[in-house]
Amino acid sequence: MVLLQIRNLYSGYGKIRVLFNVNIDVSEGSITAIIGPNGAGKTTLLNSIYGLADIYSGEIIFNGSNIAGLKPHQISLLGIGYVPQVNNIFSSLSVYENLRLAAVGLPKSQFLKRVDDVLETFPKLKELINRKAGTLSGGERRMLAIALALMKNPKLLLLDEVTTDLAPIMVKRVLEKVVELRKKGITILIVEQYAHRALEIADRVYLLASGEIRFAGEPKELLQKKELLELYLGIQ
Ligand code: ATP
Repeated sequence: MVLLQIRNLYSGYGKIRVLFNVNIDVSEGSITAIIGPNGAGKTTLLNSIYGLADIYSGEIIFNGSNIAGLKPHQISLLGIGYVPQVNNIFSSLSVYENLRLAAVGLPKSQFLKRVDDVLETFPKLKELINRKAGTLSGGERRMLAIALALMKNPKLLLLDEVTTDLAPIMVKRVLEKVVELRKKGITILIVEQYAHRALEIADRVYLLASGEIRFAGEPKELLQKKELLELYLGIQ
């Protein structure tokens, strides 16, 4: 089943047009990667899904209904979680307090169940539960950012460059977590500037350049398209 269907999407910010006629299908239970050069519009695509960009035309069908034009809090309630590129963690609060804030609105009993679930996925955060988030390492902070989005139990998780600026061992661990989340039934749409990282874990990949889709298919098909890899990703 296709969980998210983007049809003929044109979007941007006010007069700044960024995406042109974008079509994307995200199958339930899959990892779908969006790759492409700087400024291609990858973040804008996630912003468009999450109600943070202006949609000029087109449809964003999630779980059967068009969510284009809804507000972020409405989209979150429908089951989409977003881990943005910008740091959305409160440094002066503890890991626990950050998790509590991410679950605002949930009754205490449900909150406790969600915390248990999320800490089972991220046992390292359990050890750090009372630490101020500002004292965590870059990798631990990235894990916390993902944990915060999981507090609302999303069906679809949008991840924006979650491996950027991490040491190689942490890149590996974060990507392993992403694969683990898919095994738990969460559908993943991941944006990556480092294409090879996304290609290793994705079931399907879209190459975005200058706001348009230039390739859609399986990672192994893209790896055979030497001219696309060279032109858009600088891979020889
Ligand atoms: P990067 O990998 O560098 O983050 P990207 O592929 O994610 O690039 P976007 O961040 O979506 O690309 O940017 C696409 C275009 O939209 C750029 O020209 C950028 O300047 C513009 N843009 C991004 N955010 C905004 C905004 N909030 N308001 C206006 N223009 C924006």
